[in-house]
Amino acid sequence: MSLLSKSQVLEKKRKYLIPCLNTFYDEPIYYVRGELQYVYDENDTKYLDMLAGFSANALGHANPYITDRIKEQLDKIVHSTQVFLNAPIVNLAENLSSILPPTLTKSFFVNSGSEGNETAIMVARNYNKKEGVIYLDKSLHGRTNNTLAITGVNFWRIYDSFPMKAYRAETFYPEDNISYKEQMEKSLKSVEEIINNNPNISCMIAEVIQGNGGVLSPHKDYFKRLIQLLHKNNILLIIDEAQTGYGRTGKMFAFENYDFVPDILMTCKALGNGVPISSVTTTDEIANKFTIPSASTTGGNMLSCASANAVIDYIKEFDIKNNVNNLCKTFDIRLDEIKNNSNCHIKSIRGIGLMKGIEFENDVELNKILEFLKTKNIIAGKCGIGRNVMLIQPPLIITMDNVNYFCNMLELSLQIL
Ligand code: PMP
Repeated sequence: MSLLSKSQVLEKKRKYLIPCLNTFYDEPIYYVRGELQYVYDENDTKYLDMLAGFSANALGHANPYITDRIKEQLDKIVHSTQVFLNAPIVNLAENLSSILPPTLTKSFFVNSGSEGNETAIMVARNYNKKEGVIYLDKSLHGRTNNTLAITGVNFWRIYDSFPMKAYRAETFYPEDNISYKEQMEKSLKSVEEIINNNPNISCMIAEVIQGNGGVLSPHKDYFKRLIQLLHKNNILLIIDEAQTGYGRTGKMFAFENYDFVPDILMTCKALGNGVPISSVTTTDEIANKFTIPSASTTGGNMLSCASANAVIDYIKEFDIKNNVNNLCKTFDIRLDEIKNNSNCHIKSIRGIGLMKGIEFENDVELNKILEFLKTKNIIAGKCGIGRNVMLIQPPLIITMDNVNYFCNMLELSLQIL
């Protein structure tokens, strides 16, 4: 099939796609193909992808290690539904448990992060037969009705009335001039107040690092204290690692940076390297209570499990965490220097490992910088309540040359402000 021109794509998009779908940049980029950390447009212009589909393409585009395994499965059989036995799904569950703490043993697979969080809540509610869900301000957990109800970035909520009982607590990241520790106390107090006023809370859900909210992370003790508080009240903690899982922070999962283990873990994005799949993993005790029949038609099908198995094998075989940690030794120092020389244009550098947020004064400044970087063939994203934080989530296979090029161009871009 011949390649559609960019104007044809734009015209079809306008005519046939529901207009809630926005594109980045004044002149959107038309992705035609990808090659590891690079993507190419219709003119074969090559871009360094520092966003990786919001962390989904964590092992890069068209990575032959992954695509070969997908093709191998594609030629055999793609789908059976979960009511027949197949090897890829049980291998994936085993593979996943091999990279998780020993208490997280049993998994269920669905298609997207939203569906994964829906399932996680279902597992929790089924376990303790309670109802309400606590979530944090500035969180994002999906775009179904229930996951919008637990999304604290207000502009994503579409409307504001939802059937599920959801309670918003103050988040852990200190915005004003208070310390991480003070903000931790404020957040924990607000969770406690919700629990005291509502006896029927089943679970709480949180990202370890709030991605869409602006790459916001907590005080090192936050999650240890939180899980204690929740368990004292028979409430389960669900951790949503949509953006942070599979080596992105230099640990296999971001919760390992905070020295606790969640009751239920939801992962997606990087798990499939772009192929739709999400996982919900929990303890034997919680899982073994979920015996009411439940199945997802395409969730955890053989094709997506083949991709996910290849992802986990690749991460183990090529020691991806080590690459992230090595790169970040230099990346973090360079970013700090750039911030310090930025005449205060860069307000803060946030995040852990290759999950980074670079905060600008406002969205206008950030948009200028992103447009400039695009002229230097670099793609990056934006996040934050004011959309003033540059989101850096490159494929985890980038090189030191890529990091240096990005830093050089970021430095140069500041001259236009
Ligand atoms: N949780 C988090 C933390 C996310 O960032 C997202 C999507 N950006 C989701 C859940 C929802 O995932 P999906 O779009 O696959 O439904």
